[in-house]
Amino acid sequence: MKNLVAFSNLYGADPELVVAGGGNTSMKENGVLYVKGSGTALATIRAEEFVALDMAKLMEIPKKSYPNEDASREAAFLADILASRMPGEEQKRPSVETLLHALFPQRYVLHLHPNKVNGLTCAKHGEEEAKRLFPNAAWIEECRPGYILAMKVREKINEGADTVLLQNHGVFFASDDPEKLGEMLNSMLEKLDEAIASGYDASLDVPPTLSHPFTPDHIVYCGLGPDLPDTEVARQSWKSAETIAHYTASFGGQKPMSDEMIEFISHWEAENYRRKQA
Ligand SMILES: [Zn+2]
Repeated sequence: MKNLVAFSNLYGADPELVVAGGGNTSMKENGVLYVKGSGTALATIRAEEFVALDMAKLMEIPKKSYPNEDASREAAFLADILASRMPGEEQKRPSVETLLHALFPQRYVLHLHPNKVNGLTCAKHGEEEAKRLFPNAAWIEECRPGYILAMKVREKINEGADTVLLQNHGVFFASDDPEKLGEMLNSMLEKLDEAIASGYDASLDVPPTLSHPFTPDHIVYCGLGPDLPDTEVARQSWKSAETIAHYTASFGGQKPMSDEMIEFISHWEAENYRRKQA
């Protein structure tokens, strides 16, 4: 648990890596998953803010079938996640990506929204550049977070992926060694530094717009306009959007979230919960 809190606070404190309640971390021990509580901040999270869940119950979820319709599927899925909490944890709400954390066989999982990574995942040539720069990392196309995302990543985990890039979202690293997570992150950031410097095209470097957010965080913390909310969290999150926009100029220019995904995120109960925590 000490390791988990330590690397959560370390990476959570860097606004280049994650802002406000974004990102999440976890650890597995003796059949229990400890995952970040929804909306808590990695920068300041304490041991008691992680939620303990029964791994055996969580691993039953992928075997179940859920309704196709968004609201009923998400409600049923959330109920199963909440029913997996260990006794005494009933007042806590685990991260929206809890199942994804459970599915990695590795002991520790680090999920961040680094600006440099999202310069790639929110760019027009993101996928081809990701495959060129990080041939061993899995690439997941933009999809609904929560259940659908977990099921897509599950296929890649089953193929052995320990690094997963999520279009218009961020990156997951998994390892049994918490020190190795930092090495994985730093080696990715170093490669991105080179690619950002060598691929930069000033004609593609244009500011982002609130109505075309890059990631779910930007919807949750900045809203969809016309004005930026007058909060510190909104300003921090918007600064990240501006930085991402700049980096996308090295990868073919901006590719914001699709209208369909913007619509889903702005109505998703799980993200409304996270917004209220901010
Ligand atoms: Zn995320």
